[in-house]
Order: sequence, then structure tokens, then C-alpha cells
Amino acid sequence: MHNFNYHRAKDVADAAGLLGTAEDPKLLAGGMTLLPTLKNRLAAPTDLIDLAKIPDLKGITVTPTDVTVKAMTPHAVVAASAEIAKVLPALAQLAGNIGDPAVRHRGTIGGSVANSDPAADYPAAVVGLDATVVTNQREIAADDFFLGLFETALEPGEIITAVRFKVPTRAYYMKFRHPASGYAVVGTMVAQYGSTVRVAVTGAGPCVFRHTAAETALSKSFTPEAVANLDVSSADLLGDIHCSAEYRAHLVKVYVRRAVEALTR
Ligand SMILES: Cc1cc2nc3c(=O)[nH]c(=O)nc-3n(C[C@H](O)[C@H](O)[C@H](O)COP(=O)(O)OP(=O)(O)OC[C@H]3O[C@@H](n4cnc5c(N)ncnc54)[C@H](O)[C@@H]3O)c2cc1C
Repeated sequence: MHNFNYHRAKDVADAAGLLGTAEDPKLLAGGMTLLPTLKNRLAAPTDLIDLAKIPDLKGITVTPTDVTVKAMTPHAVVAASAEIAKVLPALAQLAGNIGDPAVRHRGTIGGSVANSDPAADYPAAVVGLDATVVTNQREIAADDFFLGLFETALEPGEIITAVRFKVPTRAYYMKFRHPASGYAVVGTMVAQYGSTVRVAVTGAGPCVFRHTAAETALSKSFTPEAVANLDVSSADLLGDIHCSAEYRAHLVKVYVRRAVEALTR
């Protein structure tokens, strides 16, 4: 690990100020991704700005229409939230299946979303549940946020402060879990909002994406049969040591159908 200056920000304005003045700064949330990256010398920021002691960045607010999770809320807190379990159980269930207990107690929603790891679970919730990513500067719609492999719409100096999810009529998240890390080899969030349906897929491509053919089919008929013969192209999907692009395409089809089965059985 290279040397860096450590700063404990006292509030979001303090963190933003440090981001604006340091030479090559990085925000530190749970450190679950960032610290291994530093230890492996894959990044060498001059300054780390720790968000851990900013009280305003932690907490959950639930209304009948929205669930807002502040950026530094760990996955374990979302998983254990009785309020979330009541109105949006798919989100609590997704958070409870991230990694292992250590990762769930350290890792945060803000860090996960900012990272845009292709195999991360939260991006499927953000896109599937039509969320808004709230930053210290603006609000970004889920459909505009994830741009590619580890790439988001965040500008330098921008800090995620919260993610606001829209409460659906019903939703379910289903993942084919990597047996070692827990990351999604493929994960599918199916969410119904009245007569419209959103289907978000993580793990399969360079970043989370919506499966519009599945959305159209399920908007007409919200049944497993409607997506039983879903045509999923492997053309833009990832192939790696874990499995081929063709196998991921197969998993997308199976896991969209299984999520609908879970909601309709
Ligand atoms: C062994 C292991 C298993 C895992 N398994 C899973 C899994 O099954 N599913 C899954 O989804 N994830 C998994 N993860 C990822 C983990 O859950 C974290 O979400 C992820 O590592 C990032 O969150 P963090 O809070 O640790 O962020 P950090 O590592 O601290 O930061 C990550 C990046 O986000 C930036 N950042 C952090 N907070 C903000 C903010 N508020 N605004 C702007 N930028 C910010 C940082 O500067 C950094 O670039 C796993 C990680 C490990 C180590």
C-alpha cells in the first residue's frame, strides 16, 4: 500500500471541501472494495476521506411510496430493517444475501452503488426498483446512473448521500450466487408497478441493465409462462473463468422466470 493522508470528515460539506482541495482524493466508505484495491497497489490516492463518522449519512426512512437508505447504511442494517421488510421485502432479502456477515456489516449501499461492480447486487435493486440516486449536488434517475464496467454518472467531487427506492406493488430478487464470494453470477430483480413491470439484470453484462423484452412480456401477462421462452442474446454478456456468456444468457432466462414464479405461486 502507498502512503496517503487520512481525513475523517465531520459532515458532507467537510467531505466535499476535502474532495475539492486534495490532489488525488478518494472517498472511503466500508472499505470492502477500496482497501484491497489499495493493498494491491491498483490505486494510489493521495488522500482518503472517511465518511464513517458522518451521522447524517446513516439511516432508513420508509413512507408508503418510498424507501430511502442513506449512503453509509451497511447491508446488514438494511437486511434487518423491519420497516423495509414490511413494504419492500425484496430489498431486505437482497441485502441479506450479499457476501458474508463481515462484508454485510462493513459494506455500504453508497459504496456498492458508486462502485458499479458488474456482479454487485444493489445495482439490480436501484434499476429494478426505479430508484433515484441522491448526491450532494443533484438527483440522478437509476436509468441514467450506471454507465458501464465500474463506471457511473457521478462527477468528480460528487458524493452519494442516499438512494431512494420506489415501493412496488410486488418485487422479487433472485440470484445465482457465486459460491465463494456471494457476488451475483447473475441476479434478476423483477418489480411490478401497477400495469408496468421493470426487470433489472446484474452479473451478466458490463453493468446492470433492463431486460425490455421481459418487461413487455410481463406487462401483458404477469405469469412465468410469459417469460418461459424469453430470447436472451449472449452477444453483449460477460464470459469469464466463472462461466461463458451463453451460460449467463441461460441463467438470465431461468432467473427471470423463477422470480416471477416466486411472486405468483
Ligand atoms: C469478500 C467480499 C464479498 C462480497 N460479496 C458481495 C456480494 O455478494 N454482493 C455484492 O453486491 N457485493 C459484494 N461485495 C461488495 C461489498 O458488499 C461492498 O458493497 C463493496 O465492497 C463497496 O462498498 P464499501 O462501502 O465497502 O465501499 P468502499 O470500498 O469504501 O468504496 C468503494 C468505492 O465507492 C466510492 N464511494 C464510497 N462511498 C461513496 C459515496 N457515498 N459517494 C461516492 N462514492 C463513494 C469509494 O471512493 C470507492 O471508489 C463483496 C465484497 C467482498 C470483499
